[in-house]
Amino acid sequence: MPLVPMRILLDHAAENNYGVAAFNVNNMEQIQAIMAAAEKTNSPVIVQASRGAREYTNDAYLRHLMLAAAELHPRIPMAMHQDHGNSPATCFSAIEQGFTSVMMDGSLSEDGKSPSTYEYNVKTTKAVVDAAHAKGVTVEGELGCLGGIEDGHGAGLSSEEALCHLTDPDQAADFVAKTGVDALAVAIGTSHGAYKFTKKPTGDVLVMTVIEKIHKKLPNCHMVMHGSSSVPQELLEIIRQYGGDMKETYGVPVEEIQRGIKHGVRKINVDTDNRLAMTGAIRKVFATKPSEFDPRKYLTPARDAMQKVCEDRMVQFGQAGHADKIKIKTLREFVDFYAKGK
Ligand SMILES: [Zn+2]
Repeated sequence: MPLVPMRILLDHAAENNYGVAAFNVNNMEQIQAIMAAAEKTNSPVIVQASRGAREYTNDAYLRHLMLAAAELHPRIPMAMHQDHGNSPATCFSAIEQGFTSVMMDGSLSEDGKSPSTYEYNVKTTKAVVDAAHAKGVTVEGELGCLGGIEDGHGAGLSSEEALCHLTDPDQAADFVAKTGVDALAVAIGTSHGAYKFTKKPTGDVLVMTVIEKIHKKLPNCHMVMHGSSSVPQELLEIIRQYGGDMKETYGVPVEEIQRGIKHGVRKINVDTDNRLAMTGAIRKVFATKPSEFDPRKYLTPARDAMQKVCEDRMVQFGQAGHADKIKIKTLREFVDFYAKGK
């Protein structure tokens, strides 16, 4: 099946009250892990690539890996999303590469680090929406600032600083009306990377009530949770057991994400958990079989470990069982859809 506009998956998720994990990809093993998990659980798929991933794969490797996934898994509806586009140019080049969804992160300036103004955010996001929708491509915007910095995406804010930049529900309503985005990333105190919270988060640092307030104001808005790995303690433990150095840290508990899904969250970004799973599996091979030097011997368990995380999230977010129920529309059909809405 060709790659589908992400909007189809988000709309279906909203109609059926579930969320869809968006997993980051950088290489073949990660795409294979995601697709194997989707086959096993009958799940729709969102794969996303950061600017760092596009640089790492030189775009062409990534594009062909995506086409291979689509060819090998004709029953799985799959969207390819640009994670944290820092400028319209980044989004437009992604569309040229065949991405069916882009994020214009205008909450930050073009450097991808310093917070921008609201006016800049509205203006740049609207420009991307106009150009992307003319091609049937989905657009995610962001309002408020997330903490953490990793892999070239995310604000250079600590979690504490990020709390000062939570998404304002009134401004969210204005932003969605002015830009016409399909999905809105909200800042609720999460951050990118492994070090999100120093203890299991409570409502004062992970502010789920922001999501509930936005959902009341904008019941049809698809919200996106960034930095939403759960950082399972057992994955940290495997890394430590085999010589890794992971400090004490906590992620976003799955039950909090499930609470978000009840209130309009439709896309949940998960990257760190997969990194942790792969790293633990590779470390285990290196520690227990020091004579091993065939990359397949450590990349296979790494891929299996990531597949397990993906399966778990697909079931926990409720997307499992829905792949074959989604009625597919093409980018072309979405061009007409957006033109009618104007
Ligand atoms: Zn993010």
